[in-house]
Amino acid sequence: MTAIIDNPTNAPVERLSSLALEITGQCQNTCASHCYAKSGPHGSHGTMRREDWFALLDQAEGLGVCMVQYIGGEPTLHPHLPRLIDRALSLGLRVEVFSNLVHVRPSMWRTFERTGVSLATSYYSDNAAEHEQITGGRGSYARTKANIVEAIRRGIPLRASLVHVLDGQAVDGARAELRRLGVAGEIRLDRVRAIGNGDSVSVTLHDPAELCGRCGTDRAAISPDGVVTPCVMSRWLTAGSIQTQTLAEILNGPEWADRMAVIPRRSGGGCVPDSCTPREDSCQPSSGVVTACNPDQDGSDCAPAETEACNPKY
Ligand code: SF4
Repeated sequence: MTAIIDNPTNAPVERLSSLALEITGQCQNTCASHCYAKSGPHGSHGTMRREDWFALLDQAEGLGVCMVQYIGGEPTLHPHLPRLIDRALSLGLRVEVFSNLVHVRPSMWRTFERTGVSLATSYYSDNAAEHEQITGGRGSYARTKANIVEAIRRGIPLRASLVHVLDGQAVDGARAELRRLGVAGEIRLDRVRAIGNGDSVSVTLHDPAELCGRCGTDRAAISPDGVVTPCVMSRWLTAGSIQTQTLAEILNGPEWADRMAVIPRRSGGGCVPDSCTPREDSCQPSSGVVTACNPDQDGSDCAPAETEACNPKY
């Protein structure tokens, strides 16, 4: 299900099926080469209060959004993540939490086990030293790996993104290891993009050509300060703040139209179908059975494992 946003003065301009909610800039890791959000231990939860996120979720549901992704930084570091998940589920929204899975407290596991919640994580290598060279997090390889196993043991749908950061990086080994661990969900491959910490790899900063080309067409992103952008990767294309306008006002406003106009749209290339958005048939009430996109079982709707996805976190 997608929504045509009602705008009495202009033609409907956008349809949204999902939102990426970047609830914090804080993270245990310090991925110096590729973190698009420039997150780290000193990042903050921004100016969005819990009630602001609640109000946004209410608006999203009213606009027909069917899925929200809690992302960061590391969303499990946000003190209100369980309540935010609960609010979304109570509105009938599907929830994905994109976590580094470095540390998951027991109460968070119980939240992740709720029907309608799935997990996504990033993985880099089957070599601990290489993994930790990329994340900057000592012990992060073993912790993330152990929590992947725990998520699978608990029956929580899980997908993974492989991010190719280093020359010669063991991404094939990482993919094989994930399958050995039991990851049945989609495993995507992405490269470092010239965005955030990755902008050092390019002479052209804030280049819209670095984007997949689908940004904003069926999803939008909201930063810890309430700033709305076409996606978490196009973070310089700011279109307004949810703290001063409604989501519908922003999406029907001139700034959004201007930002959308500068993004090169690609037909057939860039983001493969379903890389950025949930499947249409996944837009179901939280009481429904939710399964992760699984190329091994349902290849028609999923990117092949070797396909480059639109960004590390989708
Ligand atoms: S890429 Fe992910 S794990 Fe790494 S610092 Fe950024 S938010 Fe944290």
